[in-house]
Amino acid sequence: MNDFYKRFGLRRVINARGPATVLGASRVNEKVRKDIEQALGMSVEIWELQRRASEAISRLTGAEAGCVVGCSAAGIAISAAATITGDNIAKIKELPTITGEKNKIVVQKGHVIGIGDTPLNQVLRLTGAEVVEVGEALDCATFYLVSSLTSDVAAAVYVLGDVFPPNLLPLETFIKICKSKNIPVIVDAAYETDFTHLIKKGADLVVHSAQKWLGGATAAIIAGRKDLVHACYLQEMGIGRPMKVGKEGIVGVISAIESWINRDHKGILKRQMKMAERFKAKVSEVNGLRATIKRSEYSPSIRVEMTVDQEKTGMEAWEINYRLGKGDPVIKMDDYAVHHGKMTFDLTFLDDGDELTIIDSIVKILENKKKDTFHPKAPIKPLTRMDLLYETAKKWLDEDPRDESVIKGD
Ligand SMILES: *Cc1c(COP(=O)(O)O)cnc(C)c1O
Repeated sequence: MNDFYKRFGLRRVINARGPATVLGASRVNEKVRKDIEQALGMSVEIWELQRRASEAISRLTGAEAGCVVGCSAAGIAISAAATITGDNIAKIKELPTITGEKNKIVVQKGHVIGIGDTPLNQVLRLTGAEVVEVGEALDCATFYLVSSLTSDVAAAVYVLGDVFPPNLLPLETFIKICKSKNIPVIVDAAYETDFTHLIKKGADLVVHSAQKWLGGATAAIIAGRKDLVHACYLQEMGIGRPMKVGKEGIVGVISAIESWINRDHKGILKRQMKMAERFKAKVSEVNGLRATIKRSEYSPSIRVEMTVDQEKTGMEAWEINYRLGKGDPVIKMDDYAVHHGKMTFDLTFLDDGDELTIIDSIVKILENKKKDTFHPKAPIKPLTRMDLLYETAKKWLDEDPRDESVIKGD
């Protein structure tokens, strides 16, 4: 494994964030990797492979049909396009110019998040649709949705996740209102692991990531009503072309679904719980750090939430995160609340012992700070976590991300 990192000139990544696309998403298991490897050496008829994928997706989700596309963001755009054009090839070829009557996509304002750092409304606008944001950032009363559902609305989009304000419309209510006006509901369930409940609840199209919790290659599943799934697949002859998936992604989906259905989910959680307890015990030995173990609602994983008391550690959480990101191995965690003193570690993709490497690296960083042995180039506190992300992104071609002095001290 380490030979891989060396051969390609990369730092090893200890991924305590989860299946983030920017960290290469899932660590794909051996069976799925073997199936993908075989597929890569073969020629196949893609539409025939997609039919097999549709069967597998139905088995997984209970939906009438399904298809595979390039990624979840693509799945959202393609689903929206399908609700605008149906299976009318002429309309499909015209997008992003919309000639039919239905040219609006409705979404609650509080759901307009960055889906993989791309704003959801931008992804929807790729279809040419006008995006109608309803409600307020933190709230959405029923009347906002009801009054927005006019005859020119093609679909309404609902996003699932654990980062949303608690006072948006619940999914069941959202679906009920849309159904009463015959408007299809598209659910972004890219980070979900319950693959069955959304179809049961009446969603018309559901987008699941294939490369996140499911453990396939880069791709996404669209599951749902047969007529709409059919229209999704046809988008490949239109704006879906640059969003398409290859045989390796489709075979990855079929194989990952088999793996998922046969997986020992309880055994995996048990292993993670043991690791979480070891991790928590180590964290609590450090003055100023506190850990709590959490069972994530949206993922099949155990997460350890670490709170940093900067009065005691002498360093804020964001700086610890920054310095961990410069090390070799590079350590990544869920940094969503890092500007508020919290670092969350997802244990899914850690090998045994990685949890000790993480805490050792943090201890080393804090000790070096006390001894004041850091490289003189001290980081400047970014205003928000996204400022840091964009600053780093802009330098991707010019700056070596490796700066071991921030961990080791000079
Ligand atoms: C990751 C994610 C996406 C984007 O997934 P990609 O496959 O990287 O396009 C969209 N929506 C949600 C809720 C996600 O978690």
